[in-house]
Amino acid sequence: MKPADWHVLGAGALGCLFASALGRDGCPTTLLLRPGSRATRATVEVEHEGVSSRLELPVSTPAADGYISHLLVTTKARDVHDAVLSVAHRLDAASQVLLLVNGLGFDRKLRSELPAPEYFYGTTTEGAYRLGRRHICHAGRGLTRIGQPGREQAPDWFAQWSRAVKPTVWDPDIDQSLWLKLAINCAINPLSALQRCRNGELASPQLAPRVMTLCEEIMQVSAAAGFAGVTADRPGQVMAVIRATAGNRSSMLQDVLAGRPTEIEYITGHLLRVAQQHGVAVPLNEAIYTRIVDLQEHPHP
Ligand code: NAP
Repeated sequence: MKPADWHVLGAGALGCLFASALGRDGCPTTLLLRPGSRATRATVEVEHEGVSSRLELPVSTPAADGYISHLLVTTKARDVHDAVLSVAHRLDAASQVLLLVNGLGFDRKLRSELPAPEYFYGTTTEGAYRLGRRHICHAGRGLTRIGQPGREQAPDWFAQWSRAVKPTVWDPDIDQSLWLKLAINCAINPLSALQRCRNGELASPQLAPRVMTLCEEIMQVSAAAGFAGVTADRPGQVMAVIRATAGNRSSMLQDVLAGRPTEIEYITGHLLRVAQQHGVAVPLNEAIYTRIVDLQEHPHP
């Protein structure tokens, strides 16, 4: 079968990681850069365990012509809407759009304005960060899950994707997996960002009770929203993630430290909106959300 022709929108840490993996496996892969770029080719460099690998890939900008059959979106959640709309003229009903972005709710406005393409969702525990422009460190290997709500069978392109991006699984219950990821992020990221601490410190006697309260509130929202499977032993799972990532700084803490906007609106912000729909009170999540938003708007030195 002819390999899928991927365009990667969001050539940051994750975008470069996946573009490099797809390109190496023989998939025609094009980086979609921001408007104004005049380059026709760019080199992606990935460092992993002291080994550096470089791959030259074609590049394009949104305004260019040319049909996009397979679009991988790896921007931050807040950029998804504008980024995908910038290539809307290159998509049609047969286009496959894979949103591999943290958080939930970032696609609602996009899908109402651009309903035609077929949307897929992904979540990953791969870890990568930028060392320079299109130069990244692949810091930790992880599992990638891809799915489409309500769809059991993977589409044709998935076989090659899963050979290139190892390990990837097709997830027939992607809704639940995305919610589970959201639940874990809500319990860890905002509190670690507020405390400016590494994940492991959340298990300390001072902070663990707050993590537990966050988990209890999240479990109530999960149950009300129909994610019953996510409610089972949530505090235990969160504590396991805290221990396994004890030395890490959460992405939200990194954003706060760098003075960048965080993804709070699509993590705790989404939880609050679902809680409100179901009439569930989540006072600690709400308080932490408000403080992070305040921190973004009035960054302290
Ligand atoms: P990142 O390094 O900031 O990359 C995002 C990229 O999107 C940047 O290169 C940005 O360009 C580009 N972009 C934004 N708007 C664009 C537009 N309109 N047109 C073209 N490019 C645009 O972020 P990341 O770390 O790869 O994370 C991406 C998503 O994956 C986030 O939701 C994150 O939470 C999630 N995630 C990341 C990791 C990880 O290890 N990095 C792991 C799991 C999940 P500029 O640089 O010019 O702004």
